[in-house]
Amino acid sequence: MHPAYDYATLTKELNEFRTKHPEIPVFSIGKSVEERNLYAIRLGSGTKRVFFHGVHHGMEWLTAKLPMEFAKDLGDGLYDADTLWKKSTLYLVPMVNPDGVEIAKSGKPWQANARGVDLNHNYDALWHRSKLAEVEYGITEPGPTRYSGAYPESEPETKALVNFTRQNSFDLTLAFHSQGEVIYWDFCGTAPEESLAYLDRFEEVSPYLRDAPEGIASYGGYKDWFIQTFKKPGFTIEIGVGKNPLPLEDFPEIYKRTLPLMLEALQFEP
Ligand SMILES: [Zn+2]
Repeated sequence: MHPAYDYATLTKELNEFRTKHPEIPVFSIGKSVEERNLYAIRLGSGTKRVFFHGVHHGMEWLTAKLPMEFAKDLGDGLYDADTLWKKSTLYLVPMVNPDGVEIAKSGKPWQANARGVDLNHNYDALWHRSKLAEVEYGITEPGPTRYSGAYPESEPETKALVNFTRQNSFDLTLAFHSQGEVIYWDFCGTAPEESLAYLDRFEEVSPYLRDAPEGIASYGGYKDWFIQTFKKPGFTIEIGVGKNPLPLEDFPEIYKRTLPLMLEALQFEP
């Protein structure tokens, strides 16, 4: 067993959060394959609409703790919250793939959902290229990682995120993953001008650096779909350095290093 930030921990923290801040909406945007809730939180009331989400991948549970911790701090009024909330509305979905976390915490190296589909390869963004590339990686069936599904948006978790994104017309999205302290920011040259302005700011305020994915990781991801569909800035932020799953002890340092970037996402006007 890995000491994990799992679904039960998230649910408990959300219940505490609700009790402490009854005025802040906490709701579910859908259910996973195994019927776990895909929880969401909405903070603020500004016109800029920002969306953060974590844990597309089972072993990356620190990316759920990150938005949850951020929500707690903001709920407590830290970081000049009043000014932030006049400017922005922040939507958070801390755990897109709760079933994957439950599988991975038993020690199994598992990134996919309960049906063996890698959710971050299941979006409709050159999905067929991801499918073709699988052959080269020897992936022919559902499994722990990189299997893109039978067709785009075949999974309830992907579908829920797509619907939620379509309903809320986000101006900016950050998809949190773990490994390498890099920022993926483009999709086949379709990122808007604004993306570069954000990227410069993010690099200025944090240790994160821009990068470009290679091979099979270049297609079918949430940020790929978001950029391609809405022509708005979407980023994948890779937290932490080491081996997944990152230990819980790494969290305080990760939070410190990522916080300025998250605040900048809410404050910055490109
Ligand atoms: Zn990932």
